Amino acid sequence: MQYARIRIRIVITTWVIGKKLRNGLKYSRVTILPDTLCIHLKRFRHDFAFSSKISSKVTFPLVDLDMAPWLHKDSASKVSLYDLSGVICHHGSAGGGHYTAYALNPIDEDWYEFDDSTVTKVDPGTVMSAEAYVLFYRKNGTSNEAYREKMQSLLALNQESPSLIKFYVSRQWINKFETFAEPGPIDNSDFLCHHGGVLPSKTSFVLDLCVALPQQVWEHLHSTFGGGPACTRLYECANCRAELDALTRQKKFELEEFKTLHQEFQVSVLKGIPSKEE
Ligand SMILES: [Zn+2]
Repeated sequence: MQYARIRIRIVITTWVIGKKLRNGLKYSRVTILPDTLCIHLKRFRHDFAFSSKISSKVTFPLVDLDMAPWLHKDSASKVSLYDLSGVICHHGSAGGGHYTAYALNPIDEDWYEFDDSTVTKVDPGTVMSAEAYVLFYRKNGTSNEAYREKMQSLLALNQESPSLIKFYVSRQWINKFETFAEPGPIDNSDFLCHHGGVLPSKTSFVLDLCVALPQQVWEHLHSTFGGGPACTRLYECANCRAELDALTRQKKFELEEFKTLHQEFQVSVLKGIPSKEE
């Protein structure tokens, strides 16, 4: 893999230390690795009025792209391996061209070429020899499989002896848990306020935003991923409701004040214009 075009900069620079010039090395490292890594190769060069295409051959792996060398030592990301899931190719010149794409079907695990309305099954070698423009890598998610299986077995167990207490967890976070390699800590802030109640603006559709889980499942998820806060009861936050009502009243008051002042201003302007008879 040629990393040179990735925007992870390593810059040799000159520092002024104690009035003396010293050579230094300035570099950037990644602190969080995303679940989907998008690598945009610089295929077009723009010099003043001229544009040209860079058609250099760039090789890339289909599996096990390791981002570990670019990871900051304090990074929370534990998984650094990625597998290719899609490629965008550009055919033609800087003046005009045509885009095609390759994508991996996760069901049959075959690669397909997408060229306008034509879809063709291709072998992995064809993908590897493509003149890639944009590469899409997905973080290797096998490490999370065990947690998902454990959750399914706990849910099955709950069918036999249902938990009396339900814990509400963000549906958005559950989606991450089911599809991401590293979903990060549980984050219920998309429906809970910092007081622990439901955000007044979300009360009417809060059940669309969260999932009720048995206590054993919550304990499994919370002990594995942390985060929260824990929520066993959905109620609108009285503090946030009072704040929202005060804000709504203030906005209404300001709008009425603005209308009155605007009206007074228009009347005074009209009074200032001499009539045609004068
Ligand atoms: Zn609140």
